[in-house]
Amino acid sequence: MSTLIPHWRSGERWPGAAARTGDVHDPATGRVAAQVSFASASEVDAVVREARAAGREWAEASLTRRTSVLFAFREVLARRREEVAAAITAEHGKVLDDALGEVQRGLEVAEFACGAPHLLKGSFSDGVSTGVDVHSVRQALGVVAVISPFNFPAMVPLWFVPVAIACGNAVVLKPSEKDPSASLLLAECWAEAGLPAGVLNVVHGDKEAVDALLEHPEVAAVSFVGSTPIARYVYETGTRHGKRVQALGGAKNHMVVLPDADLDEVADAAVSAGFGSAGERCMAISVVVAVDPVGDDLVPRIASRMAGLRTGDGRRGCDMGPLVTGEHRDKVASYVAAGVAAGATLVVDGREVVPDGEVGGFWLGPTLFDRVEPGMPVYDEEIFGPVLSVVRVASYDEALALVNANPYGNGTAIFTGDGGAARRFQREVEVGMVGVNVPIPVPMAYYSFGGWKASLFGDTHAHGMEGVHFFTRGKVITTRWPDPASRPGIDLGFPQHR
Ligand code: NAD
Repeated sequence: MSTLIPHWRSGERWPGAAARTGDVHDPATGRVAAQVSFASASEVDAVVREARAAGREWAEASLTRRTSVLFAFREVLARRREEVAAAITAEHGKVLDDALGEVQRGLEVAEFACGAPHLLKGSFSDGVSTGVDVHSVRQALGVVAVISPFNFPAMVPLWFVPVAIACGNAVVLKPSEKDPSASLLLAECWAEAGLPAGVLNVVHGDKEAVDALLEHPEVAAVSFVGSTPIARYVYETGTRHGKRVQALGGAKNHMVVLPDADLDEVADAAVSAGFGSAGERCMAISVVVAVDPVGDDLVPRIASRMAGLRTGDGRRGCDMGPLVTGEHRDKVASYVAAGVAAGATLVVDGREVVPDGEVGGFWLGPTLFDRVEPGMPVYDEEIFGPVLSVVRVASYDEALALVNANPYGNGTAIFTGDGGAARRFQREVEVGMVGVNVPIPVPMAYYSFGGWKASLFGDTHAHGMEGVHFFTRGKVITTRWPDPASRPGIDLGFPQHR
């Protein structure tokens, strides 16, 4: 019998009834490694109610106490980072170095949240009217739900959980059912750091658990990251149930290459940003927009670098691991066939890869298409795999129009030595995160992460000050203490400042 991956409730592992379970694979072997317990609606209800009670006490804990737990969490996670990274590689498939990088980026959000006493400072105005002062505070929401995707099983939960907890909330995390183990290790780190039981909870599951969170009257807010159709659904359902929702969706990120760019630097960047984590990153570059005449020079440079990439088991020091499931691998491979059928030029075919790993692994090697055009499925849809498309355009204006016509607006980059062109691009492009000679412009933890258009539903991005605002409600208090020297007396008019 295979291992059952449990939930996390009341500060410990909890199997639940496990009336329904899901398979968790090792993508590098293709074998089922464990089963994960799926929470029912009534189990979600029980966990949310406990979280509500724990959250009430946590919101009353002093900032000093909350911050000391955050600092301790940072230390525990830093010490256990390799264990978390190994769990990510075992279930997601990304190579160990990349998994460690993901934990590091998540740690940076925990470090940001350690500044809670400063981040939560209100403001004070002395004497706004005779004998009257005003101050503002930000208070916790109560229970917040975090629903995360498979591609960053540690980093995406860490975009939200430390900030939500620092702000005095209790959290119910619903991780991806494809790679659920990292979330339990994070929960252990929180417990080891001294977070009271019930403040952080993990429920595994699928639509039933998500719907139970979206409809639960005690869940005040939902932070979601995943594909665009589900992000839209989560946003619409959550807001209909009166919740505050931020729902980050899918992406199709373009890298614009102007003729004056250093093409070796561009080729390195395109390969790193296109094939890192097997293209399963919401900030991966999936389209290189080659402004004439760079295409003829650039495509062979990218292809020659791809020939040097080693695809295989992430535990063997390879450059690129397998895809997350066999189903996803087949779907991505079907886009390669669709690209050929639509008339794009297949320069490197990842279906022919010889991996350094077991035959049953979910392998697909790096793939490169040239002369891709809008209207082809390989361009129009988010593939979320190691497939890089080159679109050739005649001018900067055509490149900009292409990027802005795309329904997604997560990340983009421009490669050029021309500061004026770069400045124009960063002002004119309708995308939330922009890189200038930086292919994956993921904002630091103290800025906020989020795209535009179909890449984000709601108006608040993740972490940074926007995260602090999302997880708190503002309150303004107007105070007047009795002063025998100035009694206002009776006045039925609307209050005026004198
Ligand atoms: P997904 O949308 O399939 O799943 C995300 C979460 O939603 C999971 O927890 C899953 O269990 C749940 N879910 C799935 N189907 C559901 C349904 N019908 N009803 C309710 N809940 C459901 O996404 P994924 O495949 O896990 O992750 C990849 C996607 O996430 C890509 O589209 C990628 O671009 C996107 N992503 C976006 C960002 C960003 O910051 N914008 C970051 C990472 C990933």
